Amino acid sequence: MGELMQAVVKSAAEAGAELVTRSIPRPGADEVLVRVKATSICGTDVHIYGWNSWAAGRIRDLPQILGHEFAGEVVEVGSEVRRIKVGDFISAETHIPCRACKQCLTGQMHICNNLKILGVDCDGCFAEYAVVPEIVAWKNDPSVAPELAAVQEPLGNAVYCTLVEPVVGKSVLIFGDGPTGLFAAAVAHVAGASKTFLVGRHPVRMEIARKVGATQTLDDNRDDIEGTLLSETDGLGVDVVLDMAGTQRAIDLGFKMVRKGGRFSAFGVAGGRVSIDLNDGIVFKGVTVYGINGRLMFDTWFEVRNLLASGRLDISPIITHKLPLSEFAEGFELMVRRPKVSGKVVLIP
Ligand SMILES: [Zn+2]
Ligand SMILES: [Zn+2]
Repeated sequence: MGELMQAVVKSAAEAGAELVTRSIPRPGADEVLVRVKATSICGTDVHIYGWNSWAAGRIRDLPQILGHEFAGEVVEVGSEVRRIKVGDFISAETHIPCRACKQCLTGQMHICNNLKILGVDCDGCFAEYAVVPEIVAWKNDPSVAPELAAVQEPLGNAVYCTLVEPVVGKSVLIFGDGPTGLFAAAVAHVAGASKTFLVGRHPVRMEIARKVGATQTLDDNRDDIEGTLLSETDGLGVDVVLDMAGTQRAIDLGFKMVRKGGRFSAFGVAGGRVSIDLNDGIVFKGVTVYGINGRLMFDTWFEVRNLLASGRLDISPIITHKLPLSEFAEGFELMVRRPKVSGKVVLIP
């Protein structure tokens, strides 16, 4: 291991990033150093790369290394690290908990009061090496390819959102054809959903959704979504709605299409306040609503790892692009191109 590494760094408070040569970081007492084998681009990275108003208000210290989704090999551990060993193949939960607040002490570390996020509140993993706290390091199944292990963080969002209650024998309606919507289609399929519908807008992505197990995709611009769903569910509406979009339209249609006694899992983040038909959408129907933030630590991670290791969950069609780390700008361009042409974009350092 040399002294220097390549890293994708946001240097200035403006759009873009640059590939720079940096010293390889040293792990602190409770941290591990990883040689990154694969790292994937998330919507959050796109916000930071493009430097939108959220990023400008959120990112404190520049320069900062981008990225938070990865898989790699541990090459060094701090003096207090016990669970993780040199040579382990790991990924990481990106929500870094304080371990002291009420949520952390009661099994809800994923919504810690003092949450820090990898690649947002500290240096990330778009680099040859990265340092992460041992508390978030997650040992992968060695049989899983690095580019698949790298996307377990967003896959975990989909697993938590989809399987917060069983979907066996149930009809599932997904809003959003982004990576988490596509992952949710794959998860619902292998978890035994009777029918899985995905509402999207981009043909390339809806084709992927069908490939990974969606029974039917519905084009939001063209198809009669309400009519189709009612005829497919004997006029009752769907058992489960997974909202990965967060739009007013998805909220309206989702609460309209969920059946009496059904479940609505809200993962998509709205651009601002949205309205909900409280009476007819939730109260009178007796609908159960879940807010989905992050991944349960570490219940979701066990499910994700075991689903991937079993070979039953095939997410490979969702990873549409694999590029060298040096071509990160092309990766970001693929992420924002319209109509959407990419699922997950993976960078290889
Ligand atoms: Zn992510
Ligand atoms: Zn906490």
